[in-house]
Amino acid sequence: MKKLMAANWKMYKTWDEARDTAKAMVRLLANSMPKDREVLLIPPFTAIRGVYDAIRDAKGFYVGGQDFYPAAEGAYTGEISPGQLLDAGCCFALAGHSERRHVLGESSELVGKKVAFGLDSGLSMILCVGETVEERKEGKLTEVVLKQLRAGLNTAARGFDPEMLVVAYEPVWAIGTGLVAGPKEILEAHKLIRKELLAMFPDIGSEIRILYGGSVKADNCGEIIALDNVDGVLVGGASLKADSFSLIVTA
Ligand code: PEP
Repeated sequence: MKKLMAANWKMYKTWDEARDTAKAMVRLLANSMPKDREVLLIPPFTAIRGVYDAIRDAKGFYVGGQDFYPAAEGAYTGEISPGQLLDAGCCFALAGHSERRHVLGESSELVGKKVAFGLDSGLSMILCVGETVEERKEGKLTEVVLKQLRAGLNTAARGFDPEMLVVAYEPVWAIGTGLVAGPKEILEAHKLIRKELLAMFPDIGSEIRILYGGSVKADNCGEIIALDNVDGVLVGGASLKADSFSLIVTA
C-alpha cells in the first residue's frame, strides 16, 4: 500500500501561484520521490486545471478537489459536481474537512451523501473525521470519531476498490494550530478507525488508507508516518510551499 501525501491548499493561491508551486514540487521530487509514496495536490477549484497541467506527466502525482455537491448537475448556484472535478483532472476529493463541518456547518449526513455520490461518480474519496478539543476533554473521542465514520460511510455502495476510499483522522485542535497529536493519541485514534473499517468492510478494511492530519511539518512527519496504521498525511499550512512539502513527502 503506497503512502498518500496530500496537500490541502484551502483558499490559498491564484492559478499562476498554484501551477508554479505544483511545477516546483514535480521538479524537487523528480529524483527523490520514494517509491512507496503518492502525492496528491488539492488546490482551490479555480486552480485545479493549472495544477493538473503541471503534474499530468509526473508519475505518482494526482490532483483532488476540496469539496463538491452530491448531484450530477442542476440549479445549485456556487456548487461544483464530481463530474466537473473529474473533467478538470481530479481523481480524488475531500469530504467532511473540519473547516466545512465547523465553519460552514456541514452535517455528517451531508458528508455521507458526498462520500457515496463521489464514489459512485468515480472519484476516490477522502473522508475527514476528528474531535474538537472540548470533545476530547470530555472523553468523547471514540463516540465522535465512530459517529462521523459511520455517518460518512454507511450509505456508500459496497464493492468499490479499497484504493478509492481514504479516511483522514484530523483532530480539530491540531489543524492549523501548531499543536500536533502525540504518537499515543495518533495510534489510539488510527487503531479505532482501522477496527471500525474492518467491521464495516471485512474484505477490504485492512487496505483502506488512514491519513493523519494536523500541523504536520517536515520535522515531525517522519515519526508520524512510521506509526502503525498511518498510511499517509493530510497537510495544510506546510504544504503551501514547494520546498517544505517536498521535505514532508521524502521524510
Ligand atoms: C488541513 O487543512 O487538513 C490541515 C491538517 O491543516 P494544517 O496542516 O495546517 O494543520
